[in-house]
Formats: sequence, C-alpha cells, structure tokens
Amino acid sequence: MAQVLAVVGTDTEAGKTVVSAALVAALRARGVMAAGVKPVATGVAPGDAGEDATLLARASGLRPDECLLQGFLLPRSPLAAARAENAAVDMDALLHALRVCAAAPGLDLLLVEGVGGLLVPLTERHTVRDLVRSLGAPALVVGRAGLGTIGHCALTVEAARNAGIEVAGVVLCDTTGDVDAAFAAENAAQVAAQCDVPVLGVLPHVAATDDINALARAAEEALDLDALQSALRARAGDARAAADAEVVQLDRRHLWHPFTQTSEWLAEEPVVVQRGEGCWLVDAQGRRYLDGVASLWANVHGHAHPRLDAALRAQAGRIAHSTFLGLTHEPGARLAAELCAVAPQGLTRVFYSEAGAAAVEVALRVALLAHRHRGDLRRTRFVSLVEAYHGDTPGAVSVGRSEPFHRGLDPLLFDAVRVPPPQVFVRDQQCDADDAERRSLDALRDTLQAHGDSVAALVVEPRMQGAAGMWPHHDSWLQAAAAMARDAGALVICDEVATGFGRTGDMFASAGAGVAPDILTVGKGLTGGYLPLAATLVGEELFELFTAPYAEHRTLYYGHTYTGNPLACAVARESLALFAQEDTLSRARALADRLAALLAPLHALPHVAQVRQRGVMAGIELCRGGLDQPFDPALRVGRQVVLAARRRGVVVRPLGDVVVLNPPLSLSDAEASLLVEAVAESVVEVGAGLMLHALVQP
Ligand code: PMP
Repeated sequence: MAQVLAVVGTDTEAGKTVVSAALVAALRARGVMAAGVKPVATGVAPGDAGEDATLLARASGLRPDECLLQGFLLPRSPLAAARAENAAVDMDALLHALRVCAAAPGLDLLLVEGVGGLLVPLTERHTVRDLVRSLGAPALVVGRAGLGTIGHCALTVEAARNAGIEVAGVVLCDTTGDVDAAFAAENAAQVAAQCDVPVLGVLPHVAATDDINALARAAEEALDLDALQSALRARAGDARAAADAEVVQLDRRHLWHPFTQTSEWLAEEPVVVQRGEGCWLVDAQGRRYLDGVASLWANVHGHAHPRLDAALRAQAGRIAHSTFLGLTHEPGARLAAELCAVAPQGLTRVFYSEAGAAAVEVALRVALLAHRHRGDLRRTRFVSLVEAYHGDTPGAVSVGRSEPFHRGLDPLLFDAVRVPPPQVFVRDQQCDADDAERRSLDALRDTLQAHGDSVAALVVEPRMQGAAGMWPHHDSWLQAAAAMARDAGALVICDEVATGFGRTGDMFASAGAGVAPDILTVGKGLTGGYLPLAATLVGEELFELFTAPYAEHRTLYYGHTYTGNPLACAVARESLALFAQEDTLSRARALADRLAALLAPLHALPHVAQVRQRGVMAGIELCRGGLDQPFDPALRVGRQVVLAARRRGVVVRPLGDVVVLNPPLSLSDAEASLLVEAVAESVVEVGAGLMLHALVQP
C-alpha cells in the first residue's frame, strides 16, 4: 500500500497542481514511484479529464482519465457544480477509489490533490478537510509566494491541525513569475516560524508547465525533497512500529499459541507477519523472511499468488459459505471430481473436512465402520507406526501418540498397536537402511500375525514420516507393508496430509510409490496453502457400504459446520489448475534436486548427525556426535538454530533438534541457496556457541 500525501491549497489558483506535478516528476526521477490524482475537479467537460488531471497524468506516466475520479462541468465548488447536474459527490465511493489507487502494485507514494482551499465543500456535510482526514494522510500546504500568503498559510495550517491532520510541510509557489525572490524567501521564513512547520521552499514560475522535465528540475533545485522524503519515511516507520507494538501487546495479553511454550514465546521478539509475497513473509516494517517451511508445509505456489487471490475474490463475490449438509455447490462438486482425477487409482469419493486431523478421524471411522457394515465386528484395532504423527484430535493422537507430547492424555485415547518404523532400528541399533527396513517389516509381519483378525487398518505416512523428524523409507518398504496389511484383511490408510500435492516429487507419495490406498487423507497443500480444507478419499466399494435405507443407520454421522467451504474449494480448484498448467510437479522435482545438492555439504558440519530428504521435505538432525548422542533437550539446540536463521531472514521450524526445511514448491534457485546457506550458517553459529559453552563448563 502506497503512502498518501494530500496536497491542499490555501486557495484556488495557489499552484497545487503545478507543485503536485513537479513533486511527482522529481520524486520519480529519484526512483520513488509516485503518482498524483485529483479526486474531484470542476469546470471539466464530460469525457474530458481537465487541465489539472492531464498535467498530473503526464507527470505520473498515466492516462488523464486515470488521474481524475469525478468531474463536473460548472467551474464552482464541487457541491455547487454537482448540484447543477442533479448529482452529488459520493464520499464513500471517493475514499474507496483513492484506497484502490494507493494499492496499485509497485506504487510508493500517492499525491491526492485537493480542490480549492481546505474548507471548500464537497457535499452538504463534507469539505476537502474531511476527505483528507478520512484518508488519514498528512497534508502538504501549497500557498502563493506573493503578498497575503502568510495569513493564508497560517489559516490553512491551523484549520488542518484543528481537525487532527498532520501538516508535513508548506510549499510556496510563484504562480505569476513576477514575485521578488527575496520577498518570497522572507515569506517562507515567516510561515515556518509562525506556524512551526517545515517550508520546503519556493517553486519558481515554470513557463511551460507541460514540460515535465523542467518541472522536475525546478522542484529538485528549489524544494527540500530530502526533508519531505525523510518526514514521510519517519511517519511510515512510526506508524508501522506503533501498529506492530500494539499487535505484540495484544498477542501477549490474549493469545495462546499452538505447540508453543509461553515462557519461551514471551522471551522472544515475535515476527508480526503483515503480508506475503511469493516465498516471502513481510512484516510491518518491511523486513522480509523467506518462508522455509511453507507456512507449516502447506504453501505450494507462493503467497499472494494472483490467480489464487483472484479465485478467492471471485468466489467471495458469490457466496462465502453454505452448508454441505443437505445442499451442494459448484466449487465443492467440481473440486471433488478434479481431486479424484489426480488421486491414486480407485479413489472416487471425497469427504471434506477442515484439518488434516479431522480427515484422519474420518478415515478411522470409515475403516472401523466399513468392517462393521460388512458384518465383521472383530476388526476394531488400528496398526500404526511408532513416532507417527497424524494430528491432534483423540483418534489421530491414538494412532500417533508420542512421548512426551501426549503424556497424560491416555484417558482420552484408544489403544493402537504400534510397529517400529525403519528409523527406530537405524537410530537405536545402528542398522543400515536396508537392514532396518527388513527388521521393521518383520515386526509388522509379527504384529499382523498376532492381531490379524482384529486389525481394521494399517495407518501410514507414505514415503516420509514427517513430524517424527523427517524420516524417509524406501518405496519397497511401503509396498511390502501395504501388501502385508491387505493379506491380513486390513485396510490401508495413507495419511498424505503432509506428503500430498507434490512434496515428495509425485502428486501423491502413495501412488508414486506404487501403492493404491483404500483410504487417503489430504489437507495442508490442498488449497495451495491458502485456506483450511482437508479431505478423506475412498473408493466405490467402501462408499457403497455406507449406502442403505436410513433405518439401517449406515449414514456417516460426521461433519463440521464449515465442511466443504466454497471459498476453500474454489481456491483448491485453482491450485490444481496451476499444478497442471505450470507443471508444478516438474518444478518440485527440480527443486528437490537443487536442495539435495545444496544440502550435501552440510553432512560435514560439526553437530550435523544426519541430513534426510525426500522431495522438498528435509530434516537436518543435530546431535553431540552421531545419531545415538542427542543433545540434552533442555539446551533447545533446534530452537536456537531456528532463531539464528530468523536473524538471517529465514523462517524454519524445529522438530526437537531436527531443523526442518519444507519450502513452497515455487522456491527459486536463488531462494533455495539462500535458505540452505542461512540454515548452514545458523548451525555453525549455534554449534560454535555450544562448543564454547562446553569449554567454560567446570
Ligand atoms: N497428518 C500428518 C501426516 C501431518 O503431518 C499433519 C500435520 N502436520 C496432520 C495429519 C494434521 O494436520 P492438521 O494440522 O491440519 O490437523
């Protein structure tokens, strides 16, 4: 959003337009993207923008009609001129239009030129002063350079200040060319002293006002543009710093952050994210942070993507929400079809929810009830992996319980049968990857033999156990595990909330690995990381088990208020369209290769026990020595590295002492280098501190 500066005159013909055009031209020559607009002009013929807007347009590099918002034929006050046409100035529309102008991409400063003097009426109730005040903009007062200017300037400055408008400065303008320079300078000095306001200078008469270069030169030579720019910068900085401080204060007083220890949160300086731009998060001060974890593994195509933004806006203009209980809508229905078209083979039905955890809850219910509907009441147990993570609701925690996060929750949970995944053997028994996978499969086989008839489903995160600390397994392990579960009569649930939508290099990890799940859960990247939407997908056979006369109660009695929210579905559709049109998967694979090359040297850094990666999902495990020598968790080594990376303008997250990288798939090569370099430097910095700490310990 550009800063706005209101240029107000002490009177009509004081030189507002010439000063505005000269300032715009001079600032643009200094590299500041400035533009000027005239909200209302009188004395302009229909279809014509008038002299003032035409000059502003020329200085701003715009079309005249882009620089005039409302014009009236009679050369009178806007109120009188509008009345003569049986019309009225619409203040709300004017303010809205000015804000839209200020939001033009790339614009730094918008000069809004007043009409006549400050108290000229725009409507029966509003003057130019009301417009300026509503804009929240500072004012630059333009007065004639000759006789009478001191009084007029003083009146205008006082009238502005009385209404709470900050006066950024005064410019005197020689409108006739016959003002004595010494006299003008004397007036300027008196205005500055009397009104306690910076006077930027006296703009000399420029004969050919349509000569934009001459205007720019005149302003550059005669006006103190440095003072104006630094005043505007200070104002913007102050406003932003104040807004940030207030947000932090409110946050600290009222918020409770997820997975965040408040005692640590209160001790750190939080980043207040104001907007996003591609792979970057930007705070109110304009500081930029590379989003190295895709806002919790969700963002796919970048933030503020024009197509996703437009899809959201378009849907918002139709309807933001209507229930899926008993009704349907186009974005939901079309997305379901489009999702099934890219999903692993055989999945034809989509059940929406809003969070990955909810999608997992649905998957568990469907698996359990499917066996019941088939008449098999024995299959009530779930087999899942040790260290798995499937979300934070009770069912999801039951299959993903891990110490110490879920300590004390047992009364809420059911018992799942847990099988060690390969990493347990790698870490605890120093097995190599192949041996570890064999042993893990042996354990699964034993478990299924012991519990076979009672198992409803095997639940796995395919290809990469994410929240466990980014532990990948081979596709062959997944294929064998799925085959064993099927042979034992169990269903296979692939939880692709984290791995879905390109993160492992394929649209879905399970299909990429050659596994067709009975039930698939997706979330995070489904909307490109824009909105909360998740889904549980099944095939016709499972779906049909729930279709029966009502009295049989096979209905899936499950659903949240915002199930299938149309805004989220519309954005998800656009995200899938981008996948197809921009070949996002090829980009994701290229990014994965690039990250692998960049990460390779990190293996050699002190304290880096292992670097693990699959697709764009990567984890750098930090230990005292090898994997069997973890740091004391109280040292919070992972967190220290994350804070050090943040000081370098990069946002990453720790999972214990594993530093996670999982960026948007749209990350450029240069951004990938920056991400890995900043993390590597942070590991070295924190490592050096730890070594020093060890040396000075008694
Ligand atoms: N499943 C997996 C594999 C996940 O990684 C996550 C979140 N990290 C979830 C489920 C839960 O998703 P949500 O946070 O949207 O509930």
